[in-house]
Amino acid sequence: MATQRLFFALELPDALQQQLVQWRADCFAADAGKPVAAANLHLTLAFLGEVSTETAEQLQQLAARIRQPGFTLDLDDAGHWPRPGVVWLGCQRAPRGLLQLANLLRAQAARHGCAQSTQPFHPHITLLRHAAQAVALPPRGFHWRVEVSHFALFASSFTQGRTRYRRLARWPLLSAAGA
Ligand code: ATP
Ligand code: MG
Repeated sequence: MATQRLFFALELPDALQQQLVQWRADCFAADAGKPVAAANLHLTLAFLGEVSTETAEQLQQLAARIRQPGFTLDLDDAGHWPRPGVVWLGCQRAPRGLLQLANLLRAQAARHGCAQSTQPFHPHITLLRHAAQAVALPPRGFHWRVEVSHFALFASSFTQGRTRYRRLARWPLLSAAGA
């Protein structure tokens, strides 16, 4: 049976991806960890794992019916999870719209057999992987604002030594006026 490794996520604007890469280079030592490529910077909403074409189609149909308002993401927090070796960027206060959207997608995924982590959802953008035990985090005071108007489904593959994401579909969130 053909399967694909899929996840729902928020994309970041190209310009922001470039800004984050620059900021990361300024803030972190070269040996702090393995930087995630600019084009791969994203915020995962729901990880599906390896799914069949049929399940993927069902989840896409459900995603297309979602009517949720867009929201503003304030990227003003960073942290280090030593166990997975991840340095991340996130929000001190996650917007309600983000949590609602992720909860819905995760619930739909679970109902279609995609096991969901029992860990609470912690929205984040992975900046570095294989991050050493003693990563020095930049002082607070950074802040990027992102108006989120869409969410998307991606296929992830590991080829020729690197991870690539391919966007399969993208859906709009409601604008403030339509919310
Ligand atoms: P790598 O090839 O190094 O694993 P990656 O972690 O970015 O790169 P995937 O493992 O395909 O690629 O993961 C895609 C997205 O889903 C990433 O944001 C990843 O953090 C997230 N993810 C992967 N596995 C899980 C999981 N079990 N639970 C929740 N999120 C996950
Ligand atoms: Mg992974």
